[in-house]
Amino acid sequence: MSTQLSRFFQNRSWLDAIVTVYGADIDLGNRKAWQKVSRQNAAFARIHDKTYISVTSNFKRILNYSNLRKKFAKKGLWCWWSYLQHGLGFLGLVAPISVAQGFDKVLFASTDEYVYGLPWGSHPTVDGLTQWSNTEVMTECDNWTRLEKIRYIVRLRQPVSLRSCWRDETGGNCCVCRACIVDVASLLTEDANPSAYGYLFDGITPESTLAIFKPGTVMFKSHADEPDYHQWLAVQEILRGKLGKGADFGKFQRFAVKIAQLRLEDYFVDLPPRWQT
Ligand SMILES: [Zn+2]
Repeated sequence: MSTQLSRFFQNRSWLDAIVTVYGADIDLGNRKAWQKVSRQNAAFARIHDKTYISVTSNFKRILNYSNLRKKFAKKGLWCWWSYLQHGLGFLGLVAPISVAQGFDKVLFASTDEYVYGLPWGSHPTVDGLTQWSNTEVMTECDNWTRLEKIRYIVRLRQPVSLRSCWRDETGGNCCVCRACIVDVASLLTEDANPSAYGYLFDGITPESTLAIFKPGTVMFKSHADEPDYHQWLAVQEILRGKLGKGADFGKFQRFAVKIAQLRLEDYFVDLPPRWQT
């Protein structure tokens, strides 16, 4: 990873501004959540001496994803956003800003990993070749797995508030959905305290969140879940190793033990052959 890290720092030195979009992961109707996230983003930009730019867009609201799915799922386009819109949608919003501000490079940071060779609507061979006026697009960290990104952040030893949740409507992390749980477990593999990274577990115990893994529940079903599945496998392996050596995860001990013991294959409809390890 050392080459990747040095590339990351080289590229970061020329960054002038950080752009985030209201109307992407946070719905346009949820202004309260956006204000919270926007404040965090602005503070992050300030600490790193970058200009903070926020874009408000209805680029997701103007599409009827349900109808698009009905029409195109049988042809393999099961999610318009994930499989087609993601990269070009974001870049389309940044293009006029880059021209107005005189930016000649746009860094598309840390899109979904492509190491598993899945079709995805954001990919370096598309995003990285997109250009307009005298602006080029660079991609970054796109060949890192999610676990590698978390490992990198923890090893910086400067805890930041992460947000991996798609369910929490306050702009934080619900701590009970699959995305939150696996990222909390990923932080534990690096002996990090999840609370320091925005996973607060208000009013719940970490182990109680694993109730979502009920017998008969399908947790992994389409190949869009495949990167997530592999993150789970990697996390389990590390936790088992640490627990085998007597690791103490404090209030996350029972959570870590339960995660390590989960039989993930019980949560598929059918385990796709290419997912088998
Ligand atoms: Zn969540």
